[in-house]
Amino acid sequence: MSAFAELMAFQRETEALALIAGRLEWDQETVMPPGAAQQRGEESAALAGVIHARRTDPRIGDWLAAAEAPDAAGQRALELIARAHRRNGCIPARLAAEIARVTSLAQGIWAAARAADDVARFLPTLRNVVALKREAGQALAAGGFGADAYDALIDEYEPGMTAARLAAMFGRMRPRLVALREAVLGAERRPKPLEGLFPKEAQLAFARELADAFGYDWARGRLDLAVHPFSSGQGEDVRITTRVVETEPFNCFYSTIHEVGHACYEQGIDAAHRLTPLGQGVSMGVHESQSRIYENQLGRSRAFTGWMWGRMRDIFGPLRAADAAAFWGTVNRVHSGFIRTEADEVHYNLHVMLRFDLERELIGGGLEVEDLEAAWNDRFHRDFGVVVDRPANGMLQDVHWSVGAIGYFPTYSLGNVYAGCLHRALRADLPELDASLAQGDARPATAWLREKVQRTGGLYDPAATIARACGFAPTEEPLLDYLEAKFGEIYGLS
Ligand code: ZN
Repeated sequence: MSAFAELMAFQRETEALALIAGRLEWDQETVMPPGAAQQRGEESAALAGVIHARRTDPRIGDWLAAAEAPDAAGQRALELIARAHRRNGCIPARLAAEIARVTSLAQGIWAAARAADDVARFLPTLRNVVALKREAGQALAAGGFGADAYDALIDEYEPGMTAARLAAMFGRMRPRLVALREAVLGAERRPKPLEGLFPKEAQLAFARELADAFGYDWARGRLDLAVHPFSSGQGEDVRITTRVVETEPFNCFYSTIHEVGHACYEQGIDAAHRLTPLGQGVSMGVHESQSRIYENQLGRSRAFTGWMWGRMRDIFGPLRAADAAAFWGTVNRVHSGFIRTEADEVHYNLHVMLRFDLERELIGGGLEVEDLEAAWNDRFHRDFGVVVDRPANGMLQDVHWSVGAIGYFPTYSLGNVYAGCLHRALRADLPELDASLAQGDARPATAWLREKVQRTGGLYDPAATIARACGFAPTEEPLLDYLEAKFGEIYGLS
C-alpha cells in the first residue's frame, strides 16, 4: 500500500471516530437519561483520548513525507492533514492536556456562575483559560500560524483570517450599522411584537414544514429538542435540534431554519469527500454563512414571511399582524436587547464587535480578566445605550470563553458578511426566486447554494469558496446594502 493510501485509510478511521464522538454529544444534549451523566463523562473521555492519540500519531509525519497525491482533491487532503499536523506539533503535550482539563471543568463552573449571577465564581477559571489559550496562541504564532497569539487562535476557526483584517472590516461596518440602528430606533413606524400562545406540538409540526421548505433531507437527518439548538454530523447522518417556547414561536422557527442551513451544507457536500478532511464545512465563517442566509436573507424575506403568515394563520388561528406586510415587520422587529443570540440583524454584528475587541485585548495582554466585567458593561452602554442589569445578561451570557473558544466570535460576523455576498449573487442568478419563496419553497436557493458552495466542502480555502460562488472577492458591502434597504423599507426610512 502506498504512503498516501495508508495515510488516507488511517485518516478515514479517525474521521469516523470523530463522528461517533459527535453523535455521543448529540445524544447527551437530546435523549440521554439524566442518570447517565457520570458514566457518559468517562465514555466520552475514553473516546477523546483515542482520537487525540491518532491525531498526534508520529506515523502521520512519516506518511506525509512520503505521500504523493493522485489528484487535486488528494493534494488538498494532504495539505489539510499537514496543516493540522503542524498545528498539533506547535502545542506541547503538557499544554494540550492542561487546556483539555481546564476547559472541560470550566463549562460547568461558568454555567453555575451564570445561574447565580456571580462573576467572581468564574474569574479564577477564566484567568486560567485565557492564560492557557494565550500560551497556545503564542506557540502557534511562533510556528507560523499568524502574526500574534490572537491571529493564531482565529486561524483555528477561519484559516487564513487575521485580527487586523477583521478589525478593518468592523471599522468599515460600524458607522453604517450605528447610523441604521439610530434611524430605526428613532422611526415613527413601530412593528408590533407577536402575542399569544402557540402550542408546542403545532410549533414542531410547522418546524418540520420549514425544514422541508428548504430541502432538508429527512432520510439523512432528524429533528429533536435541545436546550441550545445545534446541528450535528456529516454526510449521511446530519441531525438538527430546536427548542420550543409557547409564547415565542419565532424562537423555534428561526432556530430550526438556522440549523437547517448548517445541516444542508453538510448534506450537500460531494459524497466522494465523505470521511476525508474535505468532507466537512471548510470554516466556521462559511458554515455560518449558510445558516445565516437561510435564516435571514431567505427565511426573514418579505416573500417567505408572506407565505409563513398564511400558514401560521391556518395552523394557529388569527394573528395580531393585520396583513402580510405588517407580519414581515413583526418578524424583523428591531429592539436593543442584552443577548447576542436573540439579537436582530441590525444589532447582531455590534454584539460581535464588542466581544472581538475585548477578547483581542485579553489575549494581547491589554486587558486583565479582573477588569473584563467593567470593560464589557462600559462598552455595552456606549454601543447599545442600555446599562447591563446583571452578569447573566452581560459577560456571562456566552459559553464560548469557558470552553476556550477564543477567536470564534468574529466568525459569526464573517458568516453574515459572506451571506450578504452570496445573497447578492444568488438573486442575480435567480431573478424569479421570490415567486418560489412566496409559495413556501426555498429549494431553488438550496440548489444554487449546493452547486456553488456546499458541494466542494473543504476543497478550497474559505474566502476562495465564497469568491468562486459569487464571482467577486467577499466584502461587507452587500450585507450593509441589504440591511439598509430592508430595514429602510420596514421602518419607512428615506
Ligand atoms: Zn450557527
